[in-house]
Amino acid sequence: MAAKSFLEKYRGKRDFDSSSEPFGDPEIAKGKKDIFVVQKHDATNLHYDFRLLANGVLKSWAVPKGPSTDPDEKRLAIATEDHPVEYADFEGIIPEDQYGGGTVMVWDAGTYTIEKKDKDGNIIPLEKQLENGRASFILNGEKLQGGYSLIRIKKGENEQWLLKKSDDDKADARRNPTSTQNNSVLTGRTMKQIKKDSEDGSGKE
Ligand code: MN
Repeated sequence: MAAKSFLEKYRGKRDFDSSSEPFGDPEIAKGKKDIFVVQKHDATNLHYDFRLLANGVLKSWAVPKGPSTDPDEKRLAIATEDHPVEYADFEGIIPEDQYGGGTVMVWDAGTYTIEKKDKDGNIIPLEKQLENGRASFILNGEKLQGGYSLIRIKKGENEQWLLKKSDDDKADARRNPTSTQNNSVLTGRTMKQIKKDSEDGSGKE
């Protein structure tokens, strides 16, 4: 896991002297449970960063419309660079001159489980499922629960995927958590408060 290329792309895009984002320590991921996080990110274009821990890093996608609880909704998810596991707790402001820039909120967080098995009855690890372009997992978050899947629709430089809710007992076409549940699950703050706290110099958690 501590290969030379560990988080190379992530680190290459950032200046850690001016950004409070974590540098990334491969040791920290060891023994971590299977976590997921959804970060609301008010960059040039508002989006939700959907991240799942696999192979010691947070596999990441930018979801412009955010995740849905409606199984009939497919949400475009653009693959982005792997992030360090510590990023799951990052909330605050990325300096404007840094890649992306903007306010980041921990919109939802929790753990996930995998049930998909191969023909011998063994659980297929998430990283393997992602390699195959089709992954299913069960989220246990505050806002998002139940089965979800990620399906790759375009390979290459800017991989495109679809994020979709499974039609299970946690599916609810009427819920619209991205518009009705607007506070951080980490600190209870709104985007506005996070921005203000960071500008006041108290933003670093
Ligand atoms: Mn982002």
